[in-house]
Amino acid sequence: MRPGLHRAGSLRQLVVAVVVACSIWGTGCRPDVEPPGSETFSEGRAKVLLLGLDGASWDFMRPMIERGALPNLGRMVREGVHAPMASELPCLSIVLWTTVATGKRPEEHGITGWNFQEESGESGAMNSSHRRAEALWTIVSRAGGRAGFVNWWATWPAEPVRGYIVSDYFARADPEDDLGEAAFPPDLIARLAPELANRNWPWLSQLIAEGKLKVFSDRQGGDGDHEHREKLAWFFYGQDIVGERAAFHLLETEPTPDLFGHLSRKIDLASHYMWQFATGPDFEAVSRVLEPVYQYEDALLGRLVEAMGPDVNVIVLSDHGFTWEGNELNHTETAPDGIFIAAGPDFKKGVALPRVSLHEVAPTVLHILGLPVSRDMASGPRVDALESDRPVEWVDSHETGADRKARSHRENRLLEQLRSLGYVQ
Ligand SMILES: [Zn+2]
Repeated sequence: MRPGLHRAGSLRQLVVAVVVACSIWGTGCRPDVEPPGSETFSEGRAKVLLLGLDGASWDFMRPMIERGALPNLGRMVREGVHAPMASELPCLSIVLWTTVATGKRPEEHGITGWNFQEESGESGAMNSSHRRAEALWTIVSRAGGRAGFVNWWATWPAEPVRGYIVSDYFARADPEDDLGEAAFPPDLIARLAPELANRNWPWLSQLIAEGKLKVFSDRQGGDGDHEHREKLAWFFYGQDIVGERAAFHLLETEPTPDLFGHLSRKIDLASHYMWQFATGPDFEAVSRVLEPVYQYEDALLGRLVEAMGPDVNVIVLSDHGFTWEGNELNHTETAPDGIFIAAGPDFKKGVALPRVSLHEVAPTVLHILGLPVSRDMASGPRVDALESDRPVEWVDSHETGADRKARSHRENRLLEQLRSLGYVQ
């Protein structure tokens, strides 16, 4: 995400303006009847944790790992596989994270930018109804598994799944906003709403007070008013903490999903703004400035792994890295490599792999979960990352031809499918 302040404000207004109340699912949509085979879905398969660290770069992480400053990520590198992640143009987070979730390229999945413009002139922020390809949460749910995703880009309106989705919109919203479709099942919204009211983050306030975490430079901070800049920091970083609280609430109170995905955006935000406080334009100097943020994410990884339980396959990845474009640190023109690290029972130990592509993640996840990979994805799974040489199972497609542009049609159709599986009444 490029958190341009003025743009973020208008984007948010647009999103708020197009919220439509959830009326068709009510609260009776929680699956009471398990679909056939679901009891055995997890048998003999390790669960998968997919942690997205938007904007994380090896150039900054490597010096920190060598200093021992990122113990959890360092351990994953030593005990698992790691690689550069090839990013792509347009290097926009909403596009790239949708590529990760679908295994398809932007021209196939349809999320091609932050905004859409209809022929009628109607425009607004891209959301899940503009996506033309099924995402991992739907494919896993249909197969009888449980998927839980929190804070992933373009997941509002939240689609019906076996498990849960807390959309990116949830963390953006204010408590008084209409939260319809911000999460699925809809009864989650009442449970999670208190998290929205509390954006207090002791970690952030302490670091700012101690001068260890720089927030916005004079150049990018607008009017130079310190209090104003701090409020903006609370707004951006605070959204992430809302998502994290939702994630841990669900991991503690719901059955652990077979696939849990969480997207964290702090590194991207910090990299866009904090590099200007470094002593020089070199990666080591900037990595020292970004250190508290990378360390926070390293600790978050540790907490998520613990919450998932033992023997989990963990994949940590970023959609792009950062590099110098002209005289500023950015990613939008050159799509610099991000990171890919994976460790757990199904991954090789201590192996450096050639570059991984964003669209290789979804097929790899499906294969690990014992599900078929579809030939209409942009590539197959990265079997060179895996310990087992179990053959890849293929199907032509996971698509059902659902028309996502027509929201009510799409919702009815998916709902019918879920109903036919027996877990929506
Ligand atoms: Zn990004």
